Amino acid sequence: MSVEPVAQPLVGFRRWGCRRGALYSGIFVAGRFVPNPALGMIAPRVKPVPWPRSEDRVAKCFALRGHDAPQRDCNCGFSAYYELPEEPDLPAPEAVWGAIVAWGLIVECERGFRAQFARPIALLDRRNPDDLGERGRRVATAAEAYAIPLLEHAELVAYAAWHGELRAA
Ligand SMILES: [Zn+2]
Repeated sequence: MSVEPVAQPLVGFRRWGCRRGALYSGIFVAGRFVPNPALGMIAPRVKPVPWPRSEDRVAKCFALRGHDAPQRDCNCGFSAYYELPEEPDLPAPEAVWGAIVAWGLIVECERGFRAQFARPIALLDRRNPDDLGERGRRVATAAEAYAIPLLEHAELVAYAAWHGELRAA
């Protein structure tokens, strides 16, 4: 039941919604991307904030009685999977995959973790075939904006391992 600070950074893989070079946390519902639904629920007029391009991101909790993120019995913190799926799913045109490095307080779960601090380190060179937006350059534009590489599946996993502990089997 502990939330432990990790001795060395962890790396993991996650999905974002990507719009005009910005990466957003959110969920995918019926083929559409919904940025930060927890924030949208408590403050529907507040514009979602993308992951920062030049700083680390610090997790916040949007639960009713806020606390320091992450907490085990909540779902706050920056989530990532330990393993990059063989065929990462792209449930909406805006969906992109990439790797993060994460540190600080970490909640470890069965297939991944939730972290206090995180930063994207690379994006997967894979796009939704139905994505007709941004002239097919959506993920490339984001990689340029965050100054991180755009890599093939195996390269992304190898590159991630240079940045922290990779717990994938
Ligand atoms: Zn929370």
